[in-house]
Order: sequence, then C-alpha cells, then structure tokens
Amino acid sequence: MNEYDSAKISDILAASHDFTTTDNLNKADFIVLNTCSIRAKAEEKIFSELGRLRPLKKKNPNLILAVGGCVAVQEQKNIFRRAPCVDIVFGPQTLHRLPEMYEKTLRKEKRVIDTTPAPIEKFDYFPTPRITGPAAYVSIMEGCNKFCSYCIVPFTRGREISRPIQDILTEIKNLTDKGAKEIHLLGQNVNAYCDPNKQGSFADLIYATAKNDTVKRIRFTTSHPAEFGDDLVTMFAIEPKLVNHLHLPIQSGSNRILKLMRRGYTQEEYREIIAKIRKVRPDIGISTDFIVGFPGETEEDFTLTMEIVRNLNFDASFSFIYSPRPNTTAAKLEDTVSLDEKKRRLAVLQNQLATQTRQYNKAMIGTVQKILACGRSKKDPTHFTGRTENNRIVNFTAPRDILGEIVGVKITEALTNSLRGAVV
Ligand code: SAH
Ligand code: SF4
Repeated sequence: MNEYDSAKISDILAASHDFTTTDNLNKADFIVLNTCSIRAKAEEKIFSELGRLRPLKKKNPNLILAVGGCVAVQEQKNIFRRAPCVDIVFGPQTLHRLPEMYEKTLRKEKRVIDTTPAPIEKFDYFPTPRITGPAAYVSIMEGCNKFCSYCIVPFTRGREISRPIQDILTEIKNLTDKGAKEIHLLGQNVNAYCDPNKQGSFADLIYATAKNDTVKRIRFTTSHPAEFGDDLVTMFAIEPKLVNHLHLPIQSGSNRILKLMRRGYTQEEYREIIAKIRKVRPDIGISTDFIVGFPGETEEDFTLTMEIVRNLNFDASFSFIYSPRPNTTAAKLEDTVSLDEKKRRLAVLQNQLATQTRQYNKAMIGTVQKILACGRSKKDPTHFTGRTENNRIVNFTAPRDILGEIVGVKITEALTNSLRGAVV
C-alpha cells in the first residue's frame, strides 16, 4: 500500500511542480519518506534514516524534507522534535495536498503539518500515472474497521472507506492505456469492499476489472478470513484472470489466541475457507501471515500454530514477532513470553515454513509456468525477470524481447529466493 501511495506522491509532484525522481540523494531538492508503523522496528528505521539525511541539508540549504505515512499520523509534531531537519509532516490521506505544503515551505513557512483524515479527497485526485512496469497496484479502499487487538492500522489509516467502483475502473483503464497487464487490487481488507453507491461488492469489482481486455492478470491483497464469502470463492472458479494464488493471513493456529487478537474466526473456519478454495482451484498456492509471541501465547498455543502450518501446507509466509503498538488493546495485556522464547518460536516457525517453500520450489522444476515479463537485465537483453502466479521471482532467458508479455517459462533451477528458467 505504501508503494502505491509513493507512486501516487511522485505522480502528484510531477504534475504540480514538474518533479522527476532521482536515485541520487545528493541531487534531490525534495526528499519524501513514506513511513510504516505496523511494527516498532519499521518506525525506528525512519528516525535513523532521517539522521543519515540531515547532513544533506548542510550541502543543499534549499533541500526540503517531508515525512508521510503512518508514523507521521502516529507521531504528529513529535517528528519535528525528534528530527528538527524535517520541514513537512503529512499523512496517508493528505498526500494529495503535498504540492500546497511544498509551496508553503518555499514561502519560508517552516514546519508544515497536515495529517487530517480525508480519504475520499485523496482518491478524487488521480494524475496521469507514470507506471514503471507491466504490473500495477490500484488501491480500492482506505483504512480498516476491524480493530484487531494488536494492530495500529485503524488508528493511522482511519476507518474503512471504499472508493466508487467507476473511479477504480477509470484508474485501471489509465494504467492499461500506459501498458499495465497485471492489476493488483489493494486494501487492508479487500473483501469488505462495497461501492459507496451500492453499485457492487468485491466480487463485482473483480468481474468488472476482468472485463478490461488489456488486463491479463488480477491479484489482490489483503483479504480477511472473517469476511471471505462464497461469492469470492466462486470468482476463483469462474474467473481465469484471477491468479492461482491467495494470500490469506491466519496469524495463529490457536483459537484462544485468535480470540485475544479479535480476529473474528476460528482455525476451523479458516481451514473451511481453504478447503472451499482448493476444491475449485486444486493447485492454488496459499500464503499467509503469522504473529508469534502474542501476550500470553503458551507452548500449547504455539504447537497449534505449528500444526496448522504443516496441515495446510502453506507455500509461503510472512511471520513476525508480536510488537506492542500505541493505542491498541493488546498493548495493555500482560506480556508473559520472554523475548528469547519469542525468537526461538519464530525461528522454529520460519524453519518449517522455509522447508515447505523449498519443497514447492523444487516441485516446480521441470514445469512450465506462466510468467509476466516485468523486467529486463540491463547487462544482458536476453535475460528477463517476472513472477509466477504464486508470486515467485523467476529469472529467465528468452530468444527475443518479450518484456510485458505473458510467456511460458520452463523452470530449470530453484534457488533460495528465486527460480531460474527459459522461455519454451
Ligand atoms: N489487513 C491485513 C494485514 C495488514 S498488516 C490483515 O488483516 O490480514 C500485515 C501483517 O503485519 C499482519 O497480517 C500481521 O501478521 C502483521 N502485524 C500487524 N500488526 C502487528 C504487530 N503489532 N506486531 C507484529 N506483527 C503485526
Ligand atoms: Fe490490522 Fe486487523 Fe485491520 Fe488487518 S484487519 S489492518 S490486522 S486491524
């Protein structure tokens, strides 16, 4: 979601002030940090990064530094106190006001801050996208109403608001006109999507997206197990443009912990959804998220998590040590698990998940996968890169320029973080 927002920030500044992006920080007149506060570590990174950027202001007195995203909403004016080199603080929902805020700093107004919640306004403004490849993100909603007990998102991104379906389809058309073939629909909880004028559900939106002939592939993140209706299962059955992959975060295999997390489903209900999906798409790749060391997680709870990892045979996963976040109800719970124990559990879990991922990768050797060629090697024009439907990076060779095409690639080798292959 932050990648999508960052692309939007760069499109907005290109439209308003003719800014172009640079990889060279020494050449920048305006540096924007788009931040994440989902875990404390992500938040801390920002302040160390700002420490590294501060000397650039001495070299270039006209340099403007802005901090946006969820840390900005969480910390507000504290950002100026902790990092006095910052000129602008804005939130995920005021990014469209950056040009005005930038103008203010040019008028020597120091310390400009605007983090007010204004999600619809942000989406009302979509400048011409400068897309960087054949795959593009489209945000379909903002915020979240779920209030899982550990999560900061409802406090930083605000309440759930869906964009009008017509606006989303227009944005998709703008992207496909510029060469996008794969559309990745984004939201904290995409299956709660509901057009504000009652013009459609998430399944309807997928259906309408697939009607765009230039769209060849559709992905979405993140869906929530508590609202995974049969209409979405049906979409996997009837819509071939939906990739053969589903990311469905489970967080824990223990019903006791799921309840403390306020996730709104049991592990049995989660399994039922996976069973339904696998019935209509037997070879679908399922990935998930886990939090280990939630306050009060016992060895028994952890064993239940390990059990579900093996039983459901996830093909990939993201897993994190629980991080207490400000304002959340879980932050008030007594944390009974030591950090060493949390680290041990995370290592055990990640070891098992990595073994499963390796098995899936190995099983792909010799198969032909449909790959959207998203990048080409600068050094060797016969080398391309893309992703499998189940989100594996594949580096492959091709006899001609196939950038932006979906091609059949025979997998020849499985490395730790990627696959190798050749166009057939
Ligand atoms: N909306 C999505 C997830 C968004 S956050 C959903 O509900 O599934 C992405 C992942 O970060 C979550 O799935 C969770 O595993 C992790 N996460 C969120 N808050 C966390 C916290 N306080 N500590 C550790 N991990 C957290
Ligand atoms: Fe956070 Fe839960 Fe909302 Fe996901 S569904 S963003 S974990 S509150």
